[in-house]
This record gives sequence, structure tokens and C-alpha cells, in this order.
Amino acid sequence: MIFTQRRKGGKGAFAPFACLRENPCMAIASINPSTGETLKTFEALSAQQIEEKLQLAADTFRTYRGTPFAERTRMMIRAADILETRKHEFATIMTTEMGKPLKAAVSEAEKCAWVCRYYAETAPQHLADEVVETNARKSYVHFQPLGPVLAVMPWNFPFWQVFRFAAPALMAGNVGLLKHASNVPQCALAIEEIFRDAGFPAGSFQTLLIGSDAVEGILNDPRVVAATLTGSEPAGRSVASIAGKQIKKTVLELGGSDPFIVMASANLDEAVTTAVKARTINNGQSCIAAKRFIVAAEIYDEFERRFTSKMQALKIGDPMEESTDIGPLATPQIVNDLDEQVKKAVASGARVLTGGKKLNRPGNFYEPTVLVDIDVNTPVSCEEIFGPVAMLFRAANINEAIQIANATPFGLGSAAWTNDAKEQTQFIEELEAGSVFINGMVASDPRLPFGGVKSSGYGRELAEFGIREFVNIKTVWIGATDHTDNTDDTE
Ligand code: NAP
Repeated sequence: MIFTQRRKGGKGAFAPFACLRENPCMAIASINPSTGETLKTFEALSAQQIEEKLQLAADTFRTYRGTPFAERTRMMIRAADILETRKHEFATIMTTEMGKPLKAAVSEAEKCAWVCRYYAETAPQHLADEVVETNARKSYVHFQPLGPVLAVMPWNFPFWQVFRFAAPALMAGNVGLLKHASNVPQCALAIEEIFRDAGFPAGSFQTLLIGSDAVEGILNDPRVVAATLTGSEPAGRSVASIAGKQIKKTVLELGGSDPFIVMASANLDEAVTTAVKARTINNGQSCIAAKRFIVAAEIYDEFERRFTSKMQALKIGDPMEESTDIGPLATPQIVNDLDEQVKKAVASGARVLTGGKKLNRPGNFYEPTVLVDIDVNTPVSCEEIFGPVAMLFRAANINEAIQIANATPFGLGSAAWTNDAKEQTQFIEELEAGSVFINGMVASDPRLPFGGVKSSGYGRELAEFGIREFVNIKTVWIGATDHTDNTDDTE
């Protein structure tokens, strides 16, 4: 059944929640990727329930926007405390819903606490008025919240992606509506509970258990003023075009095919160890995982030998076990997509040095895989590969390394290993990416901006750039009481 709900009059003028599925409850489910067991299913919100939540968000914003920073800070610090105190409980929910190793899930909960504390402390200075000298008696820039912001989020860092949006948004005085990925509903509900238990008013952060088909109606609703999406390119295009028609601000954090370049002067031991970690972090399902390893010809053979041996040595298994390096992929579909990409690469001439197939056991397990001899003219060479599959490329010199690195529609992160200062500068200047990490792996940090260029999206999260995405940057100009002339012929 397809229906459109129209409301006449009332506070919100028009709420078209189009094409909510006939049986949406099956789509929102926790399924343990290690076993395939369905842990819990959830019924998607009805159009009426969505309407109530949107209205609550709009009503809450009217008062919440006026809460003093000191009060928001107190609540945000409480959220951080809850995350730290209950990190094992939250980590278990993450691991059983999407398969990341438990130890990584614990670190994720800790990092969420960090971003809460970071914005609790820094939001007042990031959003303080900025005085600008002009011909006015006084002129300054004043930052104000925008209103209810819709956050469409992915499952791969099911807490971190949400907190890095929610902490700055709430500190800025906005309110959040979370549409989380349909396979992590328990994470979504736990996050809502954290903010509630921290003292934030009920309407300041709400989880909407809905499928992606309900997003359009919500974005079209005048009470929702902006959206942020972290996810795939198709989802980003869809959300941005709907929001664009409504002239609503969006931030997009999309996919990546990050290069990891190793030059002859690099510390090879460290580069190889970091390369394996950078490819297999989060079972290989990270937007900023290194996906293409571009190695200088002089050291290529040695890098290939050491890297392959380390990939073979990784322990795949139950993500709840401390010794596990790689757990299952989040869904059977991801395993199938990954396997298809490997087969496509092999069909176009690539060789598999290790791995290359699903594991013959219950759960969504895929062998850590190394591909070489990849034709740089084939689409798979620059696609996002979301799983523990590494592609190795040989580069004759730095210019060729940069050319291969930039030969992708994506531009999220990039890493380059070299101890030559001139090469470092060339990488920083010429890599087409939102970040360049020299002699390290790409990682997010609340103090540094995070985001991409090209098809990896636009806008930034984290640092002062992130908190200023969803604010009205208001110019205030106050003339002298005896008149200041600011007439101008231009706009
Ligand atoms: P996804 O399929 O795009 O889903 C992400 C979110 O978007 C989910 O909540 C999903 O809901 C929703 N969605 C999907 N299609 C939509 C549509 N047409 N309209 C509105 N909402 C839609 O991505 P994913 O598989 O969960 O996550 C993996 C992708 O995210 C990768 O490409 C990865 O690189 C990217 N990612 C990027 C970053 C970054 O910071 N740049 C960080 C992490 C992940 P349903 O689950 O209900 O379909």
C-alpha cells in the first residue's frame, strides 16, 4: 500500500510521508552477523507517530534554543559520563548488531564520550560572537541554531557517526532527528536513551525507526530545516536532491577509495603494519579505510611480500573474542557485493595473492584478501571496496603515484609514507582529498575537521567547522546614534 498523509492547517502545514511500506517491520531488525540469528525486529513508525515526533522536535526547539551554554555543557558532560560508565554494554549492542570486534566497539563508545566532552568545552568559544571592525559603531558575527536537523546515518560506526553529528548540533542549540540504518535499531534506541538520561529534553534528540522510504516526506516537511547524511553515494544524491528542491542545507559524508602511498624513504616496517590496520579496521568497512596501496617500484616487491603475510596472519572469527582481528561483515548482501567486486577484478586480469572468497561457515565472513596486477582502467580499480580486500599498485615515481591516487571519483582521506620533505609537500598539495596523513593512517579526531571532496561529499564534521555547519551565521551591524553612512551601490 502506498499512501500520502496530508494534514490540513495545524502547526505543520503539509506532511507527505509517502510510500511507507506495507510491511516495514521486517526491514528494521537486529540480525547477528556472526550467526545470522534475528535478535529483534521493530515495527516502523506510522505516519501519525512521525508527525508527533516532528511536532515535538519543533516545539522543543523553541525552548531548547534558549538554554544557556552552561546547561547544555552540563548535560553533554553527563552524556559522556554515561558513555564511559556503560561502554561495555553499548559495545555489546554494536558488536551483536553489526559485527565489529568488541574491543573496537569499546573504543568507539570512548571516542563518543571524547567528542561530547570536546564540544561541551569548546562550543561556547566556537560559537562566540566575532567582532569585525567596519564603519559601524559595532559590527559582529552572531551564531544561532537553525532548528530540527535530520541525520541519516550508516551502520558501520553506529555510535560514532551519530555522536559526531549530535554533540555539536545539540551544543549549538539545534535539535536532532535520527534516521539510523535499518540494521542497527538497538544502537539507535540506546543513543536516544543516553541523551534522555543525560537530561536533554525528550524532543531534543529523537530516534525515528523508519525505512529510507520515509526520508523524503520528512525532508519535505517545513519543520525540518536541514539534513546530514553519512552513507553511500546513491543515498547522498537522493537526500541532497530532495533537500535541494526545498532549499535546505545538507552535509554529505559519503564513500571513499582512499589511497595509501608508500615511497622508498618510508619506514617499511611501520608502513606495512599500519597499512594492514588501515585496510582491516572495522572488518574493512570504514569510509576512510585505506583501499588502494600504491607503492614505489623500488620497494614494491618487499612491501607486497610483508603485507600479504600479515594479511594472512589475521585472525578471523567471533568478534566477541578479545583475540579476534576481523569479525563478520554486517550483512550477507555486503559479502555478496564484495565477492562480486573481487570476481570482477579477477575477470579483468587481477591476481589473488591471498583470500578471495567467503568463509564456509555460518555468518557473514570473508577472507582477508590481497589483489595485485589490477588494470587501472577498470572501474573496480577505483570503486569503494567495503570489506577486508586490499588492492596493490606499483608506481614508477611520485608523479605516477599521485596520478593513480587521484584516479577515483572519491576524495575522502589519503595517506602517504615518505621521509622526504619535498615529497611530503607534493603529496599535501596534489592529493585530491579532504585530508592528507603523512606517515600515519587516516583517522578522525574531534579537534580536526573531517569530510571529503569530489563524490565523497561536502561540508565538514568535527572541530569548529562541524559545529558551524548548522547555524545561522548572522551579520549584526549597528550604526552610530548620529548616523553612520553605509550606503553602497552593490548588493
Ligand atoms: P547507505 O546504504 O547509503 O545507508 C546509509 C543510511 O542512508 C541508512 O540510514 C540508510 O537507511 C539510508 N538510506 C539509504 N538509501 C537512502 C535513500 N535513497 N534515501 C534516504 N536514505 C537512504 O550506506 P551504508 O551501507 O549504511 O554505509 C556504508 C557507506 O557509508 C559507505 O559508502 C561508506 O563509505 C559510507 N560512510 C561514509 C562515512 C564518511 O564519513 N564519509 C562514514 C561512514 C560510512 P536504510 O538502512 O534503511 O537503507
